Amino acid sequence: MGKNQTRLVRIGSIAIGANEPIAIQSMAATKTVDIEATAATCQHLSDAGAAVVRIAVDTQRDADALKEIRKRTTANLSVDLQENYKLAESVAPYVDKIRYNPGHLHHAEPNVAWQKKVERIVQICRENDCAIRVGVNCGSVDPNLSYSIDADKNIDPMVLSAIEHAEFIDSLNFTQFCVSIKSSDPATVVAVNRQFARIRPDIPLHLGVTEAGLIPEGIIKSQAAIEPLLAEGIGNTMRISLTVPNNRKDEEIKAGKLILENVKNSNIHSGKWQQAALNIVSCPSCARVENDRFVQLAELIYEKTRELKDRQLTIAVMGCRVNGPGETDNADFGIWCGTKSVNLKKQGTLIGTFSYDEIVPKLLEIITTNQ
Ligand code: SF4
Repeated sequence: MGKNQTRLVRIGSIAIGANEPIAIQSMAATKTVDIEATAATCQHLSDAGAAVVRIAVDTQRDADALKEIRKRTTANLSVDLQENYKLAESVAPYVDKIRYNPGHLHHAEPNVAWQKKVERIVQICRENDCAIRVGVNCGSVDPNLSYSIDADKNIDPMVLSAIEHAEFIDSLNFTQFCVSIKSSDPATVVAVNRQFARIRPDIPLHLGVTEAGLIPEGIIKSQAAIEPLLAEGIGNTMRISLTVPNNRKDEEIKAGKLILENVKNSNIHSGKWQQAALNIVSCPSCARVENDRFVQLAELIYEKTRELKDRQLTIAVMGCRVNGPGETDNADFGIWCGTKSVNLKKQGTLIGTFSYDEIVPKLLEIITTNQ
């Protein structure tokens, strides 16, 4: 570990990169407006070993809640701005890091160039001593990406998007940022992070498999992606995204510690996720989850599909409409939660919307009759 000499990036009371130890992160899945529950989760995760705890912020009410959450926890806090970059201003005084996704910047004010938006985020972070994570995700690659590297045609679009943003932030003379490039496929995570580290070895990388899913598969997939990278000296911080109920979120930290222990003992996973057949991809849930039944739903789908485990199928189960529609595009069957109903897609096409009680029997019926 620690072979790559990246820049040092400070996040509140910790730092990542350079010779710093690999930091384990996690995320609160409570509603951000529930100040007491979110502050308690952040503190619990911090006490369990999370160097940074992320909170989702979508509305001004969420941003207002952060001010109170900040007073109630000593955790280093990061916020995830998905579609509303303008909230950066309201949250920056109360957090240590802001994550934005290049693929979501076009949602708010589509006529404003992304460069103007990033300039604004950088200015706010500079004024408030916040770090930035440029978080690229497989389900939401920038639809307007036109950046290319002439000398190398084989660079993954996710990597190109990350490099484009890194170069732009560099041009603003801001160095306190890291990058993440996540996919739900561990082999892709390994490949894209190797590409990025080769081109920009100076920038700290946040590693993770997005929607790694339920235990134990979620941990195994994360090991498959993260252990080989850390063993090569790539990666400075990580988050293990597990689909677990709120009161078991600290299992993400335990999984992170297991990975660090394995790397230390050279007990490295091969780097290949040996997908036998049925693959269930599920998000870890966060404040955006539309219905508290999401984790139970993911667990039920897992349980009910055990007898189909030899089918070559990917089922994606997502908690909300923000990432659900995009992140289910590549699955054979995609499910994402609404407040009262659940949407079902087959190979990218919406089949219908079903109640929480109907969705699992419907899914099983479609799989067994149509496949
Ligand atoms: S899919 Fe939605 S609920 Fe799940 S982690 Fe992503 S933003 Fe949160």
